[in-house]
Amino acid sequence: MDAGTIVLIANPAAQNGRGSWAAVEAASLFSARVGENGFRLVLTERPGHAAAIARDLPSGVRAVVALGGDGIINEVASGLMERPAADRPPLGVIPAGSGNDYAETLGMNGSLPKAVDRILQFRTVSADVGRVNGRYFVETLSFGLDAAIALDTVERRVRTGKAGTRLYLEAAVDQLFHHLALYPFKAVVEGDGANRDGVSAPFGHPGDLAGSALPRVVEGEAYLFAVQIGPTYGGHFHITPDAAIDDGLFDLCWATPSLGPWKALAVLLAAKGGHHTGNSHIHLDRAPALTLDFAVEPPAQIDGEKITGTHFEIDCIPRALTVICGR
Ligand SMILES: [Mg+2]
Repeated sequence: MDAGTIVLIANPAAQNGRGSWAAVEAASLFSARVGENGFRLVLTERPGHAAAIARDLPSGVRAVVALGGDGIINEVASGLMERPAADRPPLGVIPAGSGNDYAETLGMNGSLPKAVDRILQFRTVSADVGRVNGRYFVETLSFGLDAAIALDTVERRVRTGKAGTRLYLEAAVDQLFHHLALYPFKAVVEGDGANRDGVSAPFGHPGDLAGSALPRVVEGEAYLFAVQIGPTYGGHFHITPDAAIDDGLFDLCWATPSLGPWKALAVLLAAKGGHHTGNSHIHLDRAPALTLDFAVEPPAQIDGEKITGTHFEIDCIPRALTVICGR
């Protein structure tokens, strides 16, 4: 593979096989713009393959473009993070999957020709990357209700072949009305307390608040706990609407009692547009790192994929990846 090549990594099995058509269309668009030798299409053959391809690329490629949903983007980003910081080529994304939250965060949502156009403009930003127990994420890590909905949505999509907001709402209603649970947790939050709603009563230690470099301890019960690089998850729900991907900080959001299924549904629907943040059961914070412990294992997702455990060590690696954005 020559230096200066754009490497396009695509999962042909994405979207029940439609991923291969998107890959062919993207390849023909790149070919028309940069010539046959200016790019290389690599199709993945198994889970984990995209990460290995990105990790093992020779130095000097012009860009690595992940074509698909948040899953393959997570894999490619994770592979790039295994390289020395000075040897990570710019990451581009072309949304073609079912969950495209990171593409939206980067302003890359839209038609395939438009995405190729924007990639070839090479406007970049240095984006933070999250890490939890040694695994990387680019957009979202969450626990509890929202993770349960996200994972249920994926399961329903595989089972029914359906997609979109309707599928998400079906999963949400089922989780809210049949599985709504509270997860006792303890968070030790690093940083200087640059939080926005204050961890005053009923949580937190008032002596450790803003201005202090001491970790803050937040204990309680939560329906959900989100640790975000980008503002959205679950298919464009703006759970932390003001999150910036290049400030070296996670945006945190958690929801506390008491919410019945209908109130929880109202909060969830408000969160679609980011209008939930004034609710007294919703708490927001920002931090560069935290540890989270749960009394029982909660549903958990990382960029839309399931993870397991009760103890999570989470840190934000500032401006670790150069990513191509559409604005
Ligand atoms: Mg941030």
